[in-house]
Amino acid sequence: MNRRAATGSLLALTVAVLGCAGRAREERAAAERAAAAEAAASADEPTALPPNSPYVVVLGTAQDGGLPHLGCEKECCTAARRDPARRRLVTSLLLCDPRDGRRWLFDCTPDLRAQMDLARSHPATRVMEGPRPALLDGLFLTHAHMGHYGGLLELGREAYAVKGLATWLTPRFADYLRTNGPWRLLAEEGRLDLQAIDPGRAIELAPDLRVRCFRVPHRDEFSDTVGFLIDGPNRDLLYLPDIDKWEAFDAWEPPLAEPGEPANGGIRTIEAAIAAVDVALIDGCFFADGEIAGRSMKEIPHPFIAESIARFAALPAAEREKVFFTHLNHTNAAATRGGAAWKSVVAAGMHVLDDGRLFGL
Ligand SMILES: [Zn+2]
Ligand SMILES: [Zn+2]
Ligand SMILES: [Zn+2]
Repeated sequence: MNRRAATGSLLALTVAVLGCAGRAREERAAAERAAAAEAAASADEPTALPPNSPYVVVLGTAQDGGLPHLGCEKECCTAARRDPARRRLVTSLLLCDPRDGRRWLFDCTPDLRAQMDLARSHPATRVMEGPRPALLDGLFLTHAHMGHYGGLLELGREAYAVKGLATWLTPRFADYLRTNGPWRLLAEEGRLDLQAIDPGRAIELAPDLRVRCFRVPHRDEFSDTVGFLIDGPNRDLLYLPDIDKWEAFDAWEPPLAEPGEPANGGIRTIEAAIAAVDVALIDGCFFADGEIAGRSMKEIPHPFIAESIARFAALPAAEREKVFFTHLNHTNAAATRGGAAWKSVVAAGMHVLDDGRLFGL
């Protein structure tokens, strides 16, 4: 290489490096602007509901163990014990229909008592009559892991003693509850009215409000696992708190469909599930590999948010805009609002779900 060419390449390299630094600065500034806009948008979201239309209240966004987590003395949980604003209840949703005052719970968590207190004014048209009014008009359960059905014990004779509460769950999960104590009493005493769901059949709550399920691969010791699709009059919402890796779902063969029905309700990838809705509340349990010291994360597979950011980068911005990560483990750095991990989610065009958030349907 002659001297002039060498100087030229050096110049080009310098320009490229300076260009990169400039781009990085611009990207950082864009991420900061996005984070500020996100904070402003989610602050006023609760008032932005269309009147007299079904809506969802987010009753919790933590992994099964909650935040703070039992026995954790690290900053993730000591900070949450000091500052209630950093606490998160276990993942759950309340679907409300203000047109007739009915409401349905998605997952029944060990935080049920606190969550039903939060639910007290939802919907505003609900009439609570009699000495022991119906808490709910129905229950949808995703799977038999502690955070998703542990609260059922609150519905038994020792506590609220519900009567005939419609409970939609998979046939395998229903069999498990019917045949194992302490859950068995809930079925035997008629407290829960267990009703099987399958991906081919929608549960009609109102002519313009339906719930469908689809199956997903997960650590299925006692039950299988589903996600739910809520089809509202104006908008549809996906609730998928627990799944193994997205690639496991890609490779997974769901049980055979009924004749004439598409397998798994037509949902065979996470992208298909997101495409089917307007709002997607999905598993964001861990931010990245290695965040749980002293424990192999292969035993507890979930899509890391960092992996989801990389995978969904291929999607159009309008698809990413639908995504809210929930079911956050106490170790998940994205659970800290405004922190670097939280900002990286926002910069990728997606959101971290907050307790109390409302979504009009
Ligand atoms: Zn869970
Ligand atoms: Zn912790
Ligand atoms: Zn689980």
